[in-house]
Amino acid sequence: MERGFLLVLSGPSGVGKGRVCDALRQTDADILYSISATTRPIRGGEVDGQNYFFLSEEQFLERIEEDAFLEHAHVHGNRYGTPKDFVLRNIDSGKIVILEIDVQGALQVKRNFPNGVFVFLLPPSMKELKRRITDRGTESEQQISLRMNNAREEMGFIEEYDYAVINDDLDRAVESVLSIIAAERLRVIDGRALIDYLEEEVHD
Ligand code: 5GP
Repeated sequence: MERGFLLVLSGPSGVGKGRVCDALRQTDADILYSISATTRPIRGGEVDGQNYFFLSEEQFLERIEEDAFLEHAHVHGNRYGTPKDFVLRNIDSGKIVILEIDVQGALQVKRNFPNGVFVFLLPPSMKELKRRITDRGTESEQQISLRMNNAREEMGFIEEYDYAVINDDLDRAVESVLSIIAAERLRVIDGRALIDYLEEEVHD
């Protein structure tokens, strides 16, 4: 009887959260990725409903009114939010749901899900982070400096997280997160319920 849980992955823009999430999803059918909603303009190569649900400001506000988000926040001048239904449904059925969200969102989630697992992905250095954001070629000079400032601010919250993983090598970072997941699957959350479960009948 393995527990389902939320795994929040935060880290500065450009640190490689997207790649780490993609790799994690491919390793295990029980690891799911929560697709966020955003008001940010779609980037080349992105697909609506796959990378994000791209919404207008008005549609986003409607969703807030309907209480459809687990958390939502303003990040780099746009709105982002985690749809509630998908996450709750899957955790209940024993899945691990990854939320790739910013620090403000993570802190909101932590208040409601203290048993969630909070992982912060770090760059090998700030210099390397700037190089990664610049190489992506999707952001203006002004956007790059905004993202670097936000990165420093976000990293100030690292102590709110349970684990820090340095993304110097993608495979190694993914291995580290998988080790965290393996350990967290075995965490004792409700020991009494576990014993009761074992007493009920013989399980394979
Ligand atoms: P990007 O626009 O580069 O895809 O993402 C910008 C930032 O928004 C990243 O730090 C990402 O983690 C964060 N983000 C993406 N989805 C969500 C969400 O649903 N909620 C919150 N709070 N942040 C999000």
